[in-house]
Amino acid sequence: MLTLGSDPSGSAPRAATSCGILIDCGLFQGDEAGSGATAVDLAIDFPIEHIRALVVTHVHIDHVGRIPYLLAAGFEGPIICSEPSAIMLPEILEDALKIGFTRNRDLIERVLGLIRSRLVAVPYGKWHSVFEAEDSSLSVRLQPAGHILGSAYVECEAKSDGESQRIVFSGDLGAPHSPLLPEAVPPERADRLVIESTYGDRDHESREDRRYRLKAILEHALADGGTVLIPAFSIGRTQELLYEIESLIHEFGVGEGVGSDPSGSDPTPSPAIAWNSLEIVVDSPLAATFTRIYRELKPFWDAEATELVNQGRHPLSFEQLTVINSHEDHLNAVDYLARSHRPCVVLAGSGMCAGGRVVNYLKAMLGDTRNDVLFVGYQARGTPGRDILDYGPRGGWVELDGERFDIRAGIHQVGGYSAHAGQSDLVRFVTGIEVPPSEIRIVHGDADAKELLRRQFHSVGLTGIMIPGLA
Ligand SMILES: [Zn+2]
Repeated sequence: MLTLGSDPSGSAPRAATSCGILIDCGLFQGDEAGSGATAVDLAIDFPIEHIRALVVTHVHIDHVGRIPYLLAAGFEGPIICSEPSAIMLPEILEDALKIGFTRNRDLIERVLGLIRSRLVAVPYGKWHSVFEAEDSSLSVRLQPAGHILGSAYVECEAKSDGESQRIVFSGDLGAPHSPLLPEAVPPERADRLVIESTYGDRDHESREDRRYRLKAILEHALADGGTVLIPAFSIGRTQELLYEIESLIHEFGVGEGVGSDPSGSDPTPSPAIAWNSLEIVVDSPLAATFTRIYRELKPFWDAEATELVNQGRHPLSFEQLTVINSHEDHLNAVDYLARSHRPCVVLAGSGMCAGGRVVNYLKAMLGDTRNDVLFVGYQARGTPGRDILDYGPRGGWVELDGERFDIRAGIHQVGGYSAHAGQSDLVRFVTGIEVPPSEIRIVHGDADAKELLRRQFHSVGLTGIMIPGLA
């Protein structure tokens, strides 16, 4: 969360510094949240009087989860975001409100109504004036960030006393060549840049490697008739995974030669499984909602995905896909899959196993060696997902709802479905800016990731790099 142009001294507002905007207003995750996020933690603890607008880079909960608290604190400005984000934001906040705010339906509707009334959907690539005063003005422009549907990096053009400055906030940047969305193109200019560093310490595997690793893991895991459980975030990863699984079914599920590779390029020949009849279950009403929205917003897909649609394929709604909505069906599915040992892939939230339906699956399935857990995204320190990833392969245990569960299931991880740019991608984004920024602030990542990204930036000759909060 960052304000721009705010008065750091906190003294009375002055004309040139009395206006600001807020970029994102999210919830902390994992250890960042301290010992459990309380209403006090969530309360808005920074001045908001000068904030003229909230700009939302994308609708992940760590970027938008505190918007209801911002409104409760008296924020009266518009909520500026991309067109897809404007459709998705009320959906994600409705869910967040139900979980963390109130069960009161009327109150939820009132808050959502308020949020909808404040939304200003700005098309990608178009300047939008936030305010214009006699001696100062601020405009913003959103550009595709390739992270999740609707994601944007924000260019701010701030003018004050005849001088102009371009400040760019990366939001979360996507990995190039990720399925479905066009990749981010670096801004033409950025005098100052604020950039994320989630994967500032490493690179992802290539898309082809990753796809074949996914195939190999699925074939290996499913050969012994167990369930592959994929803790997935509702937005982004779920849809990317469905897209890749559809492509694997399309490539390897044709004809009798299951597991064959007509192109000869598959480096991972593995036990035959019947791709044609493999069941894929999405057990998350929210993920189902966002998958529907992804399907509906095809104009925002990249060229490759558009081409598949033109060929008559349905990357996000194929035949073998089942969506579970009701809680009763969910409990039945957990019970059935834990007993039946049918090869099945289940995508369930939440992505870091800190709650949601995936927890029921984990409790029922972690103890059986036939089952497997496949992590496809970032696991924050302090979350059960991180513990399973760290201790599972050593035969450890994980605590779920206050109870210990031994981990006998296979544990795997495939990078790159994280929907975050890797280190080289981040460096390319910055070096792609024609005139290098004179100031770069590294935010949004583990301390190690920030430090390694700083070194990498230095090594390519960038200067003026800061890690806010670090002495
Ligand atoms: Zn994100």
